[in-house]
Amino acid sequence: MKSAFRRGLASPALAALATLVAWAVAGPAWAAGVLAVGAGAIILFHLRHLQRVSDWASGPLDAEVPSGSGVWADAFAAIHRRVRLRKAQQREMGSIIERFRKAAEAIPDGVLLLDRHGHIEWANARAEQYVGLAMPADRGRPIVNLMRQPEFIRFMEGGEYAEPVLVEQSREPHLLSIQVVPYGASEKMLLARDVTQLEAVARMRRDFIANVSHELKTPLTVIAGFIETLQDLDLEPRQRERYLALMQDQASNMQRLVDDLLALSALESEHNPPNEAEFALVPLLLELSAQGKALAHGQHEIELIIGDAATVVGSRDELASAFGNLVSNAIRYTPPGGRIVLAWEVAADGGGRFSVKDSGIGIAREHIPRLTERFYRVDRSRSRATGGTGLGLAIVKHVLLRHQAELEIDSEPGEGSTFTVVLPPRRVKRAPAVAVERPPVAQASTAGGETAD
Ligand code: ADP
Repeated sequence: MKSAFRRGLASPALAALATLVAWAVAGPAWAAGVLAVGAGAIILFHLRHLQRVSDWASGPLDAEVPSGSGVWADAFAAIHRRVRLRKAQQREMGSIIERFRKAAEAIPDGVLLLDRHGHIEWANARAEQYVGLAMPADRGRPIVNLMRQPEFIRFMEGGEYAEPVLVEQSREPHLLSIQVVPYGASEKMLLARDVTQLEAVARMRRDFIANVSHELKTPLTVIAGFIETLQDLDLEPRQRERYLALMQDQASNMQRLVDDLLALSALESEHNPPNEAEFALVPLLLELSAQGKALAHGQHEIELIIGDAATVVGSRDELASAFGNLVSNAIRYTPPGGRIVLAWEVAADGGGRFSVKDSGIGIAREHIPRLTERFYRVDRSRSRATGGTGLGLAIVKHVLLRHQAELEIDSEPGEGSTFTVVLPPRRVKRAPAVAVERPPVAQASTAGGETAD
């Protein structure tokens, strides 16, 4: 500043010196002339630069800083430096804001900023999707005009934000958990989380507990009733025997239920089967057929068709339990005299298909998608009467999930059902031998088949 002042004095000093020299050499008239010319030139020079500064300052924000000479050159250079610095700071600020914006966009929840009047200032894309708003058109609109659910309006007006509020919507997502975080003077940040899935899981858990309690309560009530009768009444030995047998039945039902619950919980606790191994499928199919026959007590015709001998990679125990459940269901839901066909083949893509086809009661189309839900039964009393726990197909589903296999269900009420397990190609290896087991009466035709027992 001091040097600019000094440099600024140089030209007036020069003009003064020239005036003195003119006075000494040519007299006062000349001196006055020299002074007038010098002063005029100096004033013109500064006015021109002042005009440049004024034009720049009133021009667009990004206008180039003007250039100048003499003392103005330094001043303009200093302004130029400041402008450059300010621009760099603005760029940095812009990049910080952009990073914050990107971070807010990446948050898996909806984020909404509300001003002190509850009007929307900013929202990330997820908030737009969750709440159904469109920015920037909805900027400045009161949030309660967009979310009109009474529970939300009460929550916002109540001003008590320690706990989130659950808000149901007719659009997706159907259930939002909304948390309000006050900040600044009296602005608010609103966090919206989609809890539709979480709530569905919680509801399933509640239903499951209610179902288990109900399933256990029925046999327990029956057993308690019989115990009371046995204690209170002096029964004849035959009647006593009958009551004890009924109690035994109920105890077995409970035992089966607990066994299935334990099996299901073990299956759910891990994603992969614990004991993966390669095993031959034919012996397993023969075991299943023999178990089916024992279960059917000769009341059903059971046929086994093995199209392709193969080995399977997986848990033998788990697959045996899943296949066994399908066989037992086929027997339980097929009236005496019916026919059940167990069949295995390696499909064209190298995957395996194990099917259990029965000529039983069949299943109406609307029930099919829900059959693998825990405790879902088409006919509760028939399931109970045949010793069903309502968990068989849920177990099958979990075993198949762990083997990346699928269950296909094809059924016609009154005609029968076919349950098919489709194993992925990487779990199946074709082996050379081919075997077919048929009942002595029904001679099913199978290309290249051979009787196995
Ligand atoms: P449950 O112990 O009741 O048999 P599952 O989970 O094994 O339980 O089967 C669920 C329901 O699916 C059964 O209650 C029954 O209504 C129906 N279902 C299963 N298999 C068959 C079948 N082969 N034929 C007709 N209905 C079946």
